[in-house]
Amino acid sequence: MLNLILFGPPGAGKGTQSEKILVKYNLKHISTGDLLRAERNAGTELGNQANEFISKGELVPDAVVIGMVKNFMADNTDAKGFIFDGFPRTIAQAEALDSMLTDFNTEISIVLGLEVNEDELVTRLLLRGQTSGRADDQSEDTIRNRFQEYLNKTLPIQNYYSAKNKYFGVEGIGEIDQIFESLCDHLDKIS
Ligand code: ADP
Repeated sequence: MLNLILFGPPGAGKGTQSEKILVKYNLKHISTGDLLRAERNAGTELGNQANEFISKGELVPDAVVIGMVKNFMADNTDAKGFIFDGFPRTIAQAEALDSMLTDFNTEISIVLGLEVNEDELVTRLLLRGQTSGRADDQSEDTIRNRFQEYLNKTLPIQNYYSAKNKYFGVEGIGEIDQIFESLCDHLDKIS
């Protein structure tokens, strides 16, 4: 299996690149942000609880997202591999993911990080907020809070995978196709 974590701060382009990668490599895409928004739109208890965190730019509790990813993987046992987008976002999530993949007799193949500076991210997210309808993209305070959460809780994951020689950074500013090529260069080496 090819199991990729597409890593990077909010607004780095993980969703956009995931869409291209999943077609070329025939992978299943798991975006915890999309799964949480689907729960919220369906008005489920889980969705309503998650929205309290999302609207403030805070991370949703680990147990909630880990449970969602477990369910998604259990529903897709025929997958040739997964792209994890927006997950893991904490060390606890990374450890849980490792053990879920062990149960699948597989492991993370590679972690590719899209590198984009904070000012560019804020600009991109505010622009996205004009059309996405996402409330968390419309306030600069919420965006900055998401970025703080990223620095405090998510960035340590980079070292977690670097220590396993699985992390590679890719320039995340430029043409979408150019960035896709850089990601493919890494994936082609291991697939
Ligand atoms: P972005 O990368 O643009 O911030 P996402 O769609 O990945 O957007 O996530 C939106 C929000 O959903 C996050 O700010 C967070 O509140 C919540 N969320 C998504 N994935 C996770 C996760 N793995 N752990 C905790 N919270 C999450």
